[in-house]
Amino acid sequence: MSDMFKILTVDKLAEEGLAYIRSQPDADLDEKPGLNEQELAAIIGNYDGLILRSGVHVTADVLSKTGQLKAIARAGVGVDNIDLEAATAAGVLVMNSAQASTITTAEHAFGLLMALARNIGQAYKHMTEGGWDRHMFQGRQLAGKTLGIIGFGRIGQAVAMRALVFDMHVMAYDPFFNAETALDGKVKMYGEFNELLPHADMLTFHVPHNDQTHGLMGESAFGLCKKSILVVNASRGGVIDEKALLAALDSDQCAGAALDVFENEPLDTNDPLRHHRNVLVTPHLGASTVEAQEAVSTDAAVALLDYLRGHDVRGAVNVSGLRLDLDPLQNRYVDVAQRMAQLLSPMISEGISQVTLEVAGENLAAASDTIERLALIGLLQPHLDTSLNVVNVRHVAEHRGISLRTVIADEDRMAGPQIALEVNSTDRTHRIVGRVYTDMRPRVVEINSYHMDMIPAGNMVLIRNEDTPGIIGTVGMEFGRAGINIADMAISRRVASAMMLLRVDEEPPQDLIDRLLSCPGILKVCKVKLSEEQL
Ligand code: NAD
Repeated sequence: MSDMFKILTVDKLAEEGLAYIRSQPDADLDEKPGLNEQELAAIIGNYDGLILRSGVHVTADVLSKTGQLKAIARAGVGVDNIDLEAATAAGVLVMNSAQASTITTAEHAFGLLMALARNIGQAYKHMTEGGWDRHMFQGRQLAGKTLGIIGFGRIGQAVAMRALVFDMHVMAYDPFFNAETALDGKVKMYGEFNELLPHADMLTFHVPHNDQTHGLMGESAFGLCKKSILVVNASRGGVIDEKALLAALDSDQCAGAALDVFENEPLDTNDPLRHHRNVLVTPHLGASTVEAQEAVSTDAAVALLDYLRGHDVRGAVNVSGLRLDLDPLQNRYVDVAQRMAQLLSPMISEGISQVTLEVAGENLAAASDTIERLALIGLLQPHLDTSLNVVNVRHVAEHRGISLRTVIADEDRMAGPQIALEVNSTDRTHRIVGRVYTDMRPRVVEINSYHMDMIPAGNMVLIRNEDTPGIIGTVGMEFGRAGINIADMAISRRVASAMMLLRVDEEPPQDLIDRLLSCPGILKVCKVKLSEEQL
């Protein structure tokens, strides 16, 4: 059936998520675990959604054949196996289910901290080798110690809560968490990594791996720590510089490290980190619990179908801020923004350098990202072959050197909510303003400083003319001669020129447009077909 969402899964997922998809009347599930890249590329275009873990690589090659594919859901956190840039360019939403593994990963990190402080790993190994030395493994108590949490997001905060229950002093560094304290004043926040380091007895890392965090814990950072610092990393390899760590371990500047993640995974069998007496290693087990695997599988399946049904966007990795769960007024403004952009689009023939969306009103500001994306589609799609959608439209615009701005305006100053779309091109600025009245119908109230009040729907014709007598009559006569009824007409004048916006009953043929253009005093004629009004 063509109205079913076709979903492909290519990894072994926990049964709960698959069972959810199978139970949905509008979804069809194909399970093909173990496909290689070529096999996946050959069939991916037949599906609306792909759901996977980390076993399959969705490369740029695979994503060059997306066909009807709209979204990829990763059951888990890391999306290193998906070429995000290629997915964004192809308009494919990539989402993960990070939330589902937060507690499980926090528990693993905290477990590593406890095991590190009490030498549980080394003592176990010693016992399995026949030993019974009770002095070699004297540990440290957590209560009363100061834990430094690097990265105060979902997992960092879950670790903090656990540490507080263990009577630890907790402090955290996160440059994107702008507060002096967190968790009801129980966690002291630092805005500088280097300022936190000298105060910590133990450090635990919960940051993403990117250019800013690569090698964050390096030689100089170890140098700023208290002697015998303990370090836990259950975030991503590469955040701790492994060479610097080994040097700090050898000099006893670092008394022990517990690592779940590594620069290169799987960790080489001869890697010194595997064999160092003060290093405890686990093979990337952070999210590996039955509960988390069930949760990520279900979350990924639910989020994928919610997006395909147009209900919601959750866990999006390559599109941020987009909301589909809008209230009725926000939805109306999304609609009017698209109509405004489509109306403006044929008037723009020069290169666009900047697009500014101005939204007045808090309620509209909350939906501004969605409004902007849909307005951009309306504006750019008529000029491009590339198929635009909410995922790729910003990327495509920015890739073409169009800078995007959103301005939140004061609702009171604008006498109520409204949106304006301003397009700067090489030699002029176009501006269109729209509102939704209490009757919930869309209105265009201004185009390029010409004031009007018109419902933008159906076949529209926009005419700019000299403000001289007789032109309205000429326009009416030409439409009459062509047998086309004018359903509505707005006329607006400025100093010496005027604008007419017409809604007509059928699409005007090109020879009518040409005849109008040849009439004295008519400067510009654009036609555009908008969708009919949704009442
Ligand atoms: P999150 O996005 O909720 O939190 C990350 C935090 O890091 C954010 O608060 C962010 O502001 C902060 N941050 C960003 N750049 C920073 C910087 N330069 N310095 C300090 N803080 C910075 O993510 P999360 O769900 O808490 O996950 C944290 C990490 O754990 C991620 O790297 C994730 O991939 C990893 N993870 C690992 C496992 C595992 O199996 N070991 C499982 C799940 C998550």
